[in-house]
Amino acid sequence: MRPRISFGKIAHRVGAVSSEQLAECRAERDGGDGTLEQLLLDKGYLTPELAEFVRDAFVRACAVCDECGRRTDVEERHEGDWACRCGGTFVALADAMDDDQELDPALLVSEEGDVSDEGPVEG
Ligand SMILES: [Zn+2]
Repeated sequence: MRPRISFGKIAHRVGAVSSEQLAECRAERDGGDGTLEQLLLDKGYLTPELAEFVRDAFVRACAVCDECGRRTDVEERHEGDWACRCGGTFVALADAMDDDQELDPALLVSEEGDVSDEGPVEG
């Protein structure tokens, strides 16, 4: 299985938000169209400074397949395992981005469904 990665997961990992805050905002996100990050900011659970910190941590933890665009959580993968099922290679997001490049907001959104290297690429 390919470890799922999302903004919320990383925000919790670095201790920026509690499980309760995350669960509350995830439930609201699923009923609306705001991003989890925006909801956390709106409720005051995250400050803009903390959100920036979480984004930095996300970039360090995320790798993206150079072929199919699947994402993975580097910190939960086996060391040195960079092979994607599609035949591509996971590239650390930090290496794939230019220094002053803005993080693609789509990368921060949680993937839907059963996240597996074997499954089809959704959304
Ligand atoms: Zn791939």
